[in-house]
Amino acid sequence: MVPTTTDEPTTSARPADEGGTPAPRLSQERILRTEVPGPRSRELHARRVANVPTGFGIVLPAFIERAEGGILLDVDGNQLVDLASGIAVTSVGASHPAVVAAVKAQADAFTHTCFMVTEYDAFVEVAARLNAIAPGSHDKRTALFTTGAEAIENAVKISRSYTGRTEVVVFDHAYHGRTLFTLGMTAKEAPYKSGFAPFPDHIHRAPYAYPLHWRTGPENCVAEALAAFEELLERVGPERVAAAVIEPIQGEGGFIVPPEGFLAGIREITARHGIVMVADEIQAGLARTGTMLAVDHEGIVPDLVCTAKALAGGMPLSAVTGRAEIMEAVGAGGLGGTYAGNPLSCAAAVAVLDLLTSDPSWLTKARRIEELIRRELEPLVEQTGIVAEVRGRGAMMAVEICHPGTNEPDAPTTKEIATACHEAGVVALTCGTHGNVLRLLPPLVIEEDLLLDALEVLTAAIRKAAA
Ligand SMILES: *Cc1c(COP(=O)(O)O)cnc(C)c1O
Repeated sequence: MVPTTTDEPTTSARPADEGGTPAPRLSQERILRTEVPGPRSRELHARRVANVPTGFGIVLPAFIERAEGGILLDVDGNQLVDLASGIAVTSVGASHPAVVAAVKAQADAFTHTCFMVTEYDAFVEVAARLNAIAPGSHDKRTALFTTGAEAIENAVKISRSYTGRTEVVVFDHAYHGRTLFTLGMTAKEAPYKSGFAPFPDHIHRAPYAYPLHWRTGPENCVAEALAAFEELLERVGPERVAAAVIEPIQGEGGFIVPPEGFLAGIREITARHGIVMVADEIQAGLARTGTMLAVDHEGIVPDLVCTAKALAGGMPLSAVTGRAEIMEAVGAGGLGGTYAGNPLSCAAAVAVLDLLTSDPSWLTKARRIEELIRRELEPLVEQTGIVAEVRGRGAMMAVEICHPGTNEPDAPTTKEIATACHEAGVVALTCGTHGNVLRLLPPLVIEEDLLLDALEVLTAAIRKAAA
């Protein structure tokens, strides 16, 4: 489909679709009025370069004026298709009216008290909701923080406090954040860790079950990865290990979906050794993969679950939810933070959790997105030779690009494809330890025609790169 190039107004009335999503005011179509990025964006970007350090990388240097549904409107009037959701954050849409209304009402009432000074019920409400969402019938508690990395750091603190042990086990390709401890847990060197050493000690890394690249073949992946995990525990001394922190589907590492049995194996082994199993659901959690949490696909019950990104519809909020006896191991004053569980973020989260839990169509939408992506992109494996695999779950899908007919990562071609998408007005991201994975994270509210249009752009870019 050729994008509309028109001077028509960009707003149009649309009927509400099922699932109670209100009609968007921004027309849900890709529109190119200038090249991307356009002249106004380039002007603003020059000002950014003069004022903001280069350390903040940039995927697509277009400045956004408004966003709605699956569309980002830039300052040059281009309507870009959002296949990123601000990295899996705006799952319910960039400014869902229920979230906006909740934030406005809370801002009118009060913006901050600090939950450690005086209390407010929105914090408790989010905690109660997450206690109900996390798997397992045991008694639970939830602690709220601001960023994903903060949730992970606190999950480690809580696990150490509960077990009286020091060591933490993480996995190859893991991403847990950018603070110094979570950076130590994160696997990828450049650009995340370059120049920031030394990292904290007491972190050990085990292989993650990554079937496409498993040396002895995908059929051996689960058994050998679990054996390697046990060997690592034996080396470290399982009685010294406080926590094993694992992404049930890896995010920045390449949208790696472990084969069935891997997470269950990690659950069984950690339980046997009294090690706290922490599921990092920060990217995959909260309806993104077609279940409320990614661990629900296999019915795994972790001890602690970390959530963040999609939790508050774009407001900063993160959580650690887990077994009451573990969460209660920290004494009063041991957890917290000035902004932890900010009232505006909590109000937004109650609105988001209301949406996600009151209407199963959110999960259906995620699954439908997977169906469409597989239908459009899987044929490229045979047809182009450079698509090694289309994988993922729900609205968390990836295309791994390799040299033709091999499993050798091809980062330059991946970058070329992403750039072609950006120039055509499609915001696609890359990821992967070797930078050779295109990842698709559309908001769950994206309309099917818009998604198909973006997939057509992506498909054309992949075909062109393969030719
Ligand atoms: C994004 C992410 C984090 C870190 O969250 P921040 O809010 O950026 O600190 C941790 N774990 C996973 C799996 C993530 O995707």
